[in-house]
Amino acid sequence: MEKTKICPLCKRELGDSKNTSKHHLLPKSKGGKYTDIVVLHRICHRKIHSIFTENELKNQYYTIDQLLTHKEIIKFVKWVSKKSPEFYERSHQMKRDK
Ligand SMILES: [Zn+2]
Ligand SMILES: [Zn+2]
Repeated sequence: MEKTKICPLCKRELGDSKNTSKHHLLPKSKGGKYTDIVVLHRICHRKIHSIFTENELKNQYYTIDQLLTHKEIIKFVKWVSKKSPEFYERSHQMKRDK
């Protein structure tokens, strides 16, 4: 069924589904369709919602291309692209990182 295994935001492989999350680019109430759902890494998804408000998402950032024009997203993508595909969030793991 799913053939896209790349995160549209950071372009890394999506890997295990427990690290992924669905984002509705445009809510149904605003005319969104099933094609407006994208599968992202959780961390990428969370980043989107930490930067944009619901209204900003609805009014301007309802495509991946638009999201990628924002400088905080650009910064984030650069940073996260150096992480492994399984990377989610360091603080959730034990401290044997070093
Ligand atoms: Zn991603
Ligand atoms: Zn979302």
